[in-house]
Amino acid sequence: MDRQQEFVLRTIEERDVRFVRLWFTDVVGSLKSVALAPAEVEGAFEEGLGFDGSSIEGLARVFESDMLVQPDPSTFQILPWRGEEEQTSRMFCDVLTPDGEPSVADPRNVLKRTLRKAGDMGFTCYTHPEIEFYLLKSQELGPDGVPVPVDRAGYFDHVPGGVAQDFRRTAVTMLENVGISVEFSHHEDGPGQNEIDLRYADALQTADNIMTFRTVVKEVALMEGIYATFMPKPFSDHPGSGMHTHFSLFEGDSNAFFEAGAEYQLSKTGRQFMAGILKHAPEFTAVTNQFVNSYKRLWGGGEAPSYISWGHNNRSALVRIPLYKPNKGQSARMEYRGIDSAANPYLAYAVLLGAGLKGIEEGYELPPAAEEDIWSLSSAERRALGHDPLPSSLHDAIRAMEESELVAEILGEQVYEIFLRNKRAEWHDYRIQVTPHELKRNIDIL
Ligand code: GLN
Ligand code: MG
Ligand code: MG
Ligand code: MG
Repeated sequence: MDRQQEFVLRTIEERDVRFVRLWFTDVVGSLKSVALAPAEVEGAFEEGLGFDGSSIEGLARVFESDMLVQPDPSTFQILPWRGEEEQTSRMFCDVLTPDGEPSVADPRNVLKRTLRKAGDMGFTCYTHPEIEFYLLKSQELGPDGVPVPVDRAGYFDHVPGGVAQDFRRTAVTMLENVGISVEFSHHEDGPGQNEIDLRYADALQTADNIMTFRTVVKEVALMEGIYATFMPKPFSDHPGSGMHTHFSLFEGDSNAFFEAGAEYQLSKTGRQFMAGILKHAPEFTAVTNQFVNSYKRLWGGGEAPSYISWGHNNRSALVRIPLYKPNKGQSARMEYRGIDSAANPYLAYAVLLGAGLKGIEEGYELPPAAEEDIWSLSSAERRALGHDPLPSSLHDAIRAMEESELVAEILGEQVYEIFLRNKRAEWHDYRIQVTPHELKRNIDIL
C-alpha cells in the first residue's frame, strides 16, 4: 500500500464517506461508474475490482470479458453535490486485463501511452479546454421539434437574475469544490449557450477534469430544474458547441513553443508540432468530432472551423496562436479549434498530441499562416492558398481514418478497430433516415 492509497483510506474513514465510486470511460467517452462500499476499497487498490468488460463498448471481446478496474488514488475526490451526510467520493480507474496488465482498450491508457512518448522525447504536455454547451428548459423538444433554450441572450450578455448566470455561479463553485480551477465563464453566442474555461493542467488531468466537468454541469443543471447538453450542434440556426483546446509542451521549466524574437515568438518545436496537427487533421477528425452531428457544427457556420489552416488571432483558422502579453513566454501555446464538446477527451488529446509529436519527429514544415478570413474566400482562392477542407461528414472522416497509419498507431489496433466499427454503425443508422428536412423540401413537388 503506498502513501496515496493510505491517504485515501484515512480520508474515507475520517470524513465518514459511505460510497466510493469508481469511474472509467468507454471508447466513445461515456462515463462508467460502479459504487464500492468503503470496506472494499483496500482490496480494489491491491487487486482491482472485476467486472464484465464485454457489456461495455470497446472494452473487451466476449471471450475475454473479465476485466479489472484499479482506482488511481491521486484522483480521489469527495462529490459535494451528493450532500454533506453520508458522503460520496470518486476515483478514476485504470482498466486492467485479468493478469493485471493495462488494457489496450482503455482510453485513459491510450492517452497515458502517448504522454509517455512525449516524456521520452523530453516533453510534458499541458492543455486547457474552453468548453461550450447549451442550457435547455428540459430534455423535451418544443412544439416545433427543436430544443428550447433557457434564454435568448448572446455573447458575453449579462442577464440580470438570469437562469444562466445563477447556473454558472453554482457550477463554478461546485467545480472549485471538486478541485477543478475555472479561469473564465460567460454566456456564448447562441441562446442558452454558455462557456466555461478550465485552468491549464497536464493533459491526463485535463481529460479527467473534462469527464468530471460534464457530470458536474449536468448535475447542477438538474438541481436548477434545467437541462445541459454537450451535443455539438443542437440548433440548425445557432452556433455549435466547440471545445477549443490550448496545447503547450514544456521541457523542464521552459515552454518549448516559445522563442523570443521568432516570428509569432513561435519556436521551431512549436512550428513542427503545429505542422503535425495540420497535416494529420483529416485523419484524426473522426476522433475529435466523433458524431454525425459533429459535422453539422463544422459546416454550419457560427465560427466553427471548416478548413485546414493556422493563423494568429484568426478565428476562421483551425489552429490559432493566441496573443499573449510580452514577457509571457511561458504562456506560449496553440489553440486547436476543431474539437467539439462531445469528444472522448482521452482519445482526442491522444491523437492531437500524437500528431504534433509526429511533426516534431519528422521535422515537418509549417505552411504559411492565413491572415485572411477563410470563410469569405472563394473555393478557387482557398485551393490556391492550400486551405483544404476538413472531412464534410462522419462518413468522410471514417474514410480518412481508415487510411491512417498514424491514428492506428496512436490508438492501438484494438481501439482503432472498435472505434471505426462503432462509427460505421452510427453512419449506417443515419444514412437510412428520411429526415423532416427532405420531406419538407420534396413532398409537394416530387
Ligand atoms: N461556438 C464556436 C465553435 O463551435 C466557437 C465560438 C467562439 O468561441 N468564438 O467552435
Ligand atoms: Mg473562449
Ligand atoms: Mg467560445
Ligand atoms: Mg477559443
